[in-house]
Amino acid sequence: MVKSFDPVFDNLRKRGHRITPQREVILQIFRQLPNGVHLSADELYVKMNELGYNVSLATAYRTLKLLSSFGLLRELTFAEGHKHYELKQDSLPHQHIICVNCNSTLEFEDHFLEEIGQKIGLKHHFQVIDSQFKIFGICPNCQLNK
Ligand SMILES: [Zn+2]
Ligand SMILES: [Zn+2]
Repeated sequence: MVKSFDPVFDNLRKRGHRITPQREVILQIFRQLPNGVHLSADELYVKMNELGYNVSLATAYRTLKLLSSFGLLRELTFAEGHKHYELKQDSLPHQHIICVNCNSTLEFEDHFLEEIGQKIGLKHHFQVIDSQFKIFGICPNCQLNK
């Protein structure tokens, strides 16, 4: 488990954010996920309780929102309209293609889309946290099984 030596948390504390052990644990869980895996609040809630952390679903929701507002997690809304989260990695910005039939998601990298997001945000005097570009469609598998 991370202690306060973690530069990410130190940085947040310096900016006046309260980083509780629970929040550190949640971020740790996201760090250990394989690439391309996204968690919903429900899934995080189950995982935390499996690990022996007694949190409520409401806390899981709130913490995910909060960590997203810090720019540590990315909040994603896929086809069925409920939210998923993933670790935000500045080094590897990626976007998603979502199948509206089976809800499978594919990730792709495109720096151009990130830059456009930054540019448009700046133009409107926003400090950009994240840019998301989503493509909805029908995946090759679902096209075959029609
Ligand atoms: Zn992703
Ligand atoms: Zn599909």
